[in-house]
Amino acid sequence: MHPLAWIVQPPDPVAHRRPALFLDRDGVLNENRADYVRTWQQVVILPGVLTAMQRLAASPFAVVVVTNQSAVGRGLLSRQVLAAINQGIVREVQQAGGRIDAVYACPHTPEAGCTCRKPRPGMLLQAARELEIDLARSWLVGDAVSDMQAAAAAGCRPVLVRTGRGMKQALGLALHGLHHVPVRADLAEAVNWILAGAAPVNAE
Ligand SMILES: [Mg+2]
Ligand SMILES: [Zn+2]
Repeated sequence: MHPLAWIVQPPDPVAHRRPALFLDRDGVLNENRADYVRTWQQVVILPGVLTAMQRLAASPFAVVVVTNQSAVGRGLLSRQVLAAINQGIVREVQQAGGRIDAVYACPHTPEAGCTCRKPRPGMLLQAARELEIDLARSWLVGDAVSDMQAAAAAGCRPVLVRTGRGMKQALGLALHGLHHVPVRADLAEAVNWILAGAAPVNAE
């Protein structure tokens, strides 16, 4: 079982391995919905996201979305509509001067036992192979404990945001041994913090 993958911008074949900023989708880029985002009309980009994506575009980070979309496995969302939603988000970001280099989506249900559904690290590991990413210098911004666990399993650094499910999920961090995870208000704050030098991104 593999994740669905859309590589928008393949890596430069002669460049060194680069760090990535992995982004969860629902609750980080767009509003989370308890009954899943099932149409493009239901995509509501969160405040400050487009500006943050514009800042990121000028950084050395590969920008990679990694999203669990079990609505596909549950028969509630077709792969075609999921692709259209993801492409719509990529387009909105591009039109605002931002960049998304790739989108990975796990279409499986929790019961399927795949290796790509977060908290497992399959999507991050596949992205690292396909996009020449150095996981140790990479970050994952998410709104759920499972995102933080996927980051830890892949060997990259987690940041929780309080948007989406994040406010409630932040309360559960300590319970899962994740008390060290930094928490930021939203994607804009997380991106500013990371770009301000939370990570030595140019270190070899
Ligand atoms: Mg989320
Ligand atoms: Zn999966």
